[in-house]
Amino acid sequence: MAAARRLPGVLALVTGGGSGIGRAVCARLAREGALVAVADRDAAGAAETLRALPAGAHRALEVDVGCAESVAGLMALLQAHFSQPASVCINCAGITLDEFLLKQTEEAFDAVLRVNLKGTFLVTQAVARALVASGASGGSIINVGSIVGKVGNLGQANYAASKAGVEALSKTAAKELARYGIRCNTVLPGFIRSPMTDKVPQKVLDKFAAMVPLGRLGEPEDVADVCAFLASEDSRYITGASVEVTGGLFT
Ligand code: NAP
Repeated sequence: MAAARRLPGVLALVTGGGSGIGRAVCARLAREGALVAVADRDAAGAAETLRALPAGAHRALEVDVGCAESVAGLMALLQAHFSQPASVCINCAGITLDEFLLKQTEEAFDAVLRVNLKGTFLVTQAVARALVASGASGGSIINVGSIVGKVGNLGQANYAASKAGVEALSKTAAKELARYGIRCNTVLPGFIRSPMTDKVPQKVLDKFAAMVPLGRLGEPEDVADVCAFLASEDSRYITGASVEVTGGLFT
């Protein structure tokens, strides 16, 4: 017997939905019955994700999560297209600009914080505001942090700081939004195969893969399955939590 779909008719906004983990999240949530808003600054990537989704009233939308005006435009489009607020939001948009601390530029630091941390803040705030204004009875916001935000990583001072910030932001949002029935959790992926990690030298990936207790790098679907759980009522008593999806690495 097929398992019951856990998100029938629920509007799910997925930022960074045009690639990697975000794309896998879109596919997983659509299989759960959600209406998916695939949001990305890469319009072609978002359109490709959309094409692969099962039939439904899903949409691909362009956004720069680091820009408040762009996020406001996204929220207006969501309301126009779906006539309901997103009661599930997965913030997957993210970038890396790796360089050792001694060489890292102010521009690279600002750029990574702008997308990863400020972008997560802007979208979390906008989604929560829309939910509260609509009088909806609940919601689930899931922010994608990184295990690197807990343990640090060579060449990633900007990225690690941004992801530590995402975790702290989520925990605070969880405390403030609980009274509205809105949950906010963080997933902390380890090393997951995606266009982001395609940029990492193979010898570095091999080194990390050898350290993973479960014996392999992660796949986007490993993270997407956890996001689907956190989006659904199966996780109704979980908020402010950080779920490591690392194959046991650094735990
Ligand atoms: P990815 O394949 O590069 O996907 C990230 C997506 O976000 C891309 O489509 C990217 O577009 C988009 N994006 C970047 N800046 C944006 C902006 N300002 N507004 C809207 N969209 C934007 O990376 P991924 O591996 O799937 O990563 C997804 C999330 O997981 C990120 O937050 C990442 O930090 C986190 N994460 C990944 C790993 C891993 O090992 N892969 C581990 C831990 C955490 P462009 O292609 O145009 O940049």
